[in-house]
Amino acid sequence: MTITTHQAFKTLIHGEWNESQSKATIEINSPHKNDLIGSVPSLSQEELNDSIEKTVAAQDQWAQTSLQERAEILNKWADILEERQEDIGETIMQEVAKKKSSAVSEVSRTADYIRHTVEDALRIHGEVMRGDSFKGGSPSKIGMVEKEPLGTILAIGPFNYPVNLSASKVAPALMMGNSVIFKPATQGAISGIKMIEALIDAGLPKSLVTLATGRGSVIGDYLVQHPGVDMITFTGGTGTGRHIAQLSTMVPLVLELGGKDPAIVLNDADLDKAAEEIVAGAYSYSGQRCTAIKRVLVQDEVADQLVERITNKVKSLKVGMPEDNAVITPLINTKSADFVQSLIDDAKNQGASVLVGDKREDNLIYPTLLDHVTSDMKVAWEEPFGPVLPIIRISNENEAIELSNQSDYGLQASVFTKDTENAMKIADKLKVGSVQINAKTERGPDHFPFLGVKGSGLGVQGIRNSLLSVVRDKVKILNM
Ligand code: NAP
Repeated sequence: MTITTHQAFKTLIHGEWNESQSKATIEINSPHKNDLIGSVPSLSQEELNDSIEKTVAAQDQWAQTSLQERAEILNKWADILEERQEDIGETIMQEVAKKKSSAVSEVSRTADYIRHTVEDALRIHGEVMRGDSFKGGSPSKIGMVEKEPLGTILAIGPFNYPVNLSASKVAPALMMGNSVIFKPATQGAISGIKMIEALIDAGLPKSLVTLATGRGSVIGDYLVQHPGVDMITFTGGTGTGRHIAQLSTMVPLVLELGGKDPAIVLNDADLDKAAEEIVAGAYSYSGQRCTAIKRVLVQDEVADQLVERITNKVKSLKVGMPEDNAVITPLINTKSADFVQSLIDDAKNQGASVLVGDKREDNLIYPTLLDHVTSDMKVAWEEPFGPVLPIIRISNENEAIELSNQSDYGLQASVFTKDTENAMKIADKLKVGSVQINAKTERGPDHFPFLGVKGSGLGVQGIRNSLLSVVRDKVKILNM
């Protein structure tokens, strides 16, 4: 099937590429030009139910295929994604206004992710245990522990990496023998359809995936509570994640949620390096990244010098359209742009100084740097998901640790200092999933564990952990 843009896309339900029974569709417009890219089916609960039943039923046979057979299909999937990276990258660019080069590299990085997932899955084995390791146990009891798939995995992706953060759920699930219900973000659904099209072209039996296109506000609760779902893996906002956690019952959850990652800059930091990392970390893809640096906590003594360096770099960021490879592009929708603007306005009204930016054209928020931000301002605590960076001046490192840990979020943090031993001590005290020493916060390399604490998530991702999150132990005990 060759897909061109500006078309009514079909989705994968009931084991075929179909429209919705009602013919209802959702039109997808580009965030930056507001032009129609295409439409996707808006599925009803009834037809989803029928399709999910087929997907649940297909899992048993899939689980009986060999790892090598599954590996062959998934590796082919990676190859096809690479062949189509220009086309799929173009779609990502249009759908979520991400600069073209990053959109294309999202697809090639996804192919690498899939290949590593396959390789790692081939090396996951069970274990054999003897009963006499436990006091009073008998050596004639032999426990054989193997990994078995959970069943059917509900994978829900966010808009900002519509291919990468979807494939990183779908690939481990399938590789370990599960079937999948994939709910793409609506803004990102065409990219999701193209990603699944590549998987089917690679030879995956069609019934193994239900591609649940439709608005989360309409079908989300239904999917989350569907009795056919054996595990949920979700990336998105903390509010949605908490909602899903409240609704779901007795199924394992992996949640990758929002963040408010601090960059802590101490007196002895290499300020050139810190400024470079902070600007790249805060503003790439207009700050629409969970691991973007979302506040700077800098010691008073070096604050002016750091701020000067950051200011110069922010002024030189390329602002414009994704087609022109601009770093700062229009935000995903007007609601998001309004929210970012409200954080800037609140900070200004309470006395923050605007060093760069505070300029808006529709959904395009120019890169904004705010100095002298205090704890009373919303931007000190809330996740903007936009190109605004608050500078908070601190008197010592204990204050930085305290402010970091007061956040409702706990994804990552950066510490900039030449004293590595001290950085390690600070890292121990930070309530976050990962601490970057002398570098920006970011996801990856993808085989590292990736997790958030507090409002930033539940469970652990990263290739090995993602594979283990979709299996359970099966123990067979031989009594000799
Ligand atoms: P979102 O609004 O929470 O949406 C995420 C997904 O959830 C979308 O597919 C959405 O569908 C769906 N959804 C909405 N309501 C639902 C419901 N009741 N039940 C089930 N699913 C539902 O988040 P977003 O705006 O796409 O992404 C931005 C957020 O994701 C930010 O907070 C960011 O920090 C976070 N994020 C975290 C990570 C991480 O790894 N920690 C990575 C990337 C992004 P619709 O699109 O149809 O509404």
